[in-house]
This record gives sequence, structure tokens and C-alpha cells, in this order.
Amino acid sequence: MRRITLNGLQLGIVLTSILLAKTGTAEVPVEQLQPATRIAIAIHGGAGTIKKSKFTPEREKAYRAKLSEAVEAGYAILAKGGSSLDAITTSVNILENSPFFNAGKGAVYTYDETHEMDASIMYGKNRNAGAVAGVKHIENPINLARLVMEESVHVMLSGAGAEAFAKTQGVPLVDNKIFDTQHRYKALLRAKKKLKAAEAANKNYQAAHQALDTEFKVGTVGAVALDSKGNIASATSTGGMTSKRFGRIGDSPVIGAGTFADNDSCAVSATGHGEYFIRYNVAADICARVQYQGKTIEQAGNEVIHDVLKPVGGTGGVIIVDTKGNISLPFNTKGMYRASKTSTSNTYVGIFADE
Ligand code: ASP
Repeated sequence: MRRITLNGLQLGIVLTSILLAKTGTAEVPVEQLQPATRIAIAIHGGAGTIKKSKFTPEREKAYRAKLSEAVEAGYAILAKGGSSLDAITTSVNILENSPFFNAGKGAVYTYDETHEMDASIMYGKNRNAGAVAGVKHIENPINLARLVMEESVHVMLSGAGAEAFAKTQGVPLVDNKIFDTQHRYKALLRAKKKLKAAEAANKNYQAAHQALDTEFKVGTVGAVALDSKGNIASATSTGGMTSKRFGRIGDSPVIGAGTFADNDSCAVSATGHGEYFIRYNVAADICARVQYQGKTIEQAGNEVIHDVLKPVGGTGGVIIVDTKGNISLPFNTKGMYRASKTSTSNTYVGIFADE
């Protein structure tokens, strides 16, 4: 019979089994262990042209502190035996409530100088999912996506309909102006200047928008987690693209593109140029490689981010967790705001590529 050494959390679970089984021994057969005694969480605050030279030491410290706060809050829920869904919702709320990231309070501006947000959530235990697209008056879009999953018969609600559903759930509608920030407005003005110059040179809006720098096309928040019952989940929330127009919706609310979770493979939350992530079905493709090709999440994530997306010009990254508590955070941009913590590793916070 194989014998193993136990950490604190495992010992707690095992001791309960021992008491029930009245074995009277601290050595426990591996076969009696619960399938998942590890917990894990990873978060992101968007990928993009994030260069060290753009940060003062104070600004960098503030970003790291917010990422750390979000990952620790989610982890604390998992450590108390809470669900992966509760953990990721809590982490995403913290990032949505910060003006640093392109979601909720920090959402970018549309061409018409408003904010339109997308979000989705998925549970790996049963592949339940909920999403909202193009909402303008919801303070925490991820919470509404979760309500769509848990309280409606649908998976994705958009615009005015999503907000009418919010009212039926007692979710207050807020003024779109609460999402206004100076730095995002300046970014919109920069983007519009480039768009207008292109239009003057007879390029149409779409071609001009396609030519905009990556900084205008990316930014999102997300979280993935594994709970002590072995269930994984994923959540993504975004303001989308700066200067987006015509009701544009990105990958973030699209299940399979920006968000995916299935206990048979992995949970993924994406950030990047949404049009590519939709066309390449990024989150689901990573999980399919894990499930059908037996790849690790690291192999599958690297293949899709570096070998599939990069050559076609798809910039961005993903965070991935599997049911064993492994975490992978691949991206093909200069940086990605990210953090993780598991029951077997300390808190990690990263911004730039080489850390
Ligand atoms: N994927 C988001 C979108 O295209 C943006 C991002 O994640 O950076 O709306």
C-alpha cells in the first residue's frame, strides 16, 4: 500500500475520513483521499503594450497591490471551502471596481463617448454559463452574467434586454458616467485623432480601426479557479476596445472564445484582440487540446497563444487552471497584468514579460 505525506489542508480532509472510518491511524491509503485537495486561483487585468518605462515606481506598486488584493481575496474564499464561482466573482469585482483595468470603473470609451461592457462566467462542473454583452448601466457586469447563468433560462443577454433582466433581479441601473475616467478619455481622443486622419485619407472606419495600435484594442479582467471540491470555473469582464462602434461585441462574453470551463479539461479566461479570439475560438481550443490530445495546460496554452494566434496577428494572452491545480499564464504581448496563488505555491504577481 502506498503511503504519503500530507499538508495541512489535506490532513484536515483526511482526518474527517479517518474519524468516520475509525481507522485510528494517521497513515492513510492514497485511495481514500478526496480527489481534489488542492485549491488554486489565477487572475488577469489585461494584456498589451505594457512596458516598464511607462510606469513610475509608485504606479507599478499600486498596480501590483491591486492584483495582489484581488488574488488574495479569491484565494481566501477557496481556503474556507468556498466555491470556485464565488472566488472568481469576488476577484473580478475587485478588478472591475478599480480604474486601473479596462472593466467596470476603468472601462474604455466607445466612439460615441459612452461605455459598453461585456462579461461572461462558466462553471466546469456542469458547463453552465452566463453572459451579458453591450451593457451600459451595470456597475459589475460579471455579477449580472452570473445571474443570467443562475436565474435565467438563457446563456447570453445583450443591451437593453440584459438591463431589463437586471431590473427583475433587483440589480440597480447606474448612470453611464460613473465609468468616466480622465485617462480613458484621453486615450479615446488619441484614437479618434488617428481615425479621423485615416478617414481624411479616404480609408474607411474599419480599415482605420484595424490600423490602430494594440494599446487601443486590449484590456480586460478575468479569473479562473479550482475549489476544494474539484470544480473549476472561469470569468471575464471588459469594456472592450477603445473607440468601438456599431454595437461591437468582443470575445469576452462569447463562451468558447474569451471564457471556457469544463472539469474534463480546464478553465480559461482570455484577454486580447477580441476579433481574433472569436475567430480562433481560443478558450475552447485550449481546453480541446487538453481533453482530446492529452496536452498539459501549459503546452495547449502556448500552442494557441504563440503558434496559432501570433502568426496571424492575434495579440493577447490567457490564464488557465486545471482540476489538479496547475496554472499557466501564456501571452504574446509585452506584458500582462496577472497574479496567482495555489495551496502549493506562494502568491505570484507579474506585469512584464520577463518575470
Ligand atoms: N478581448 C477584449 C475585447 O476584445 C479586450 C481584451 O481582452 O483585451 O473586447
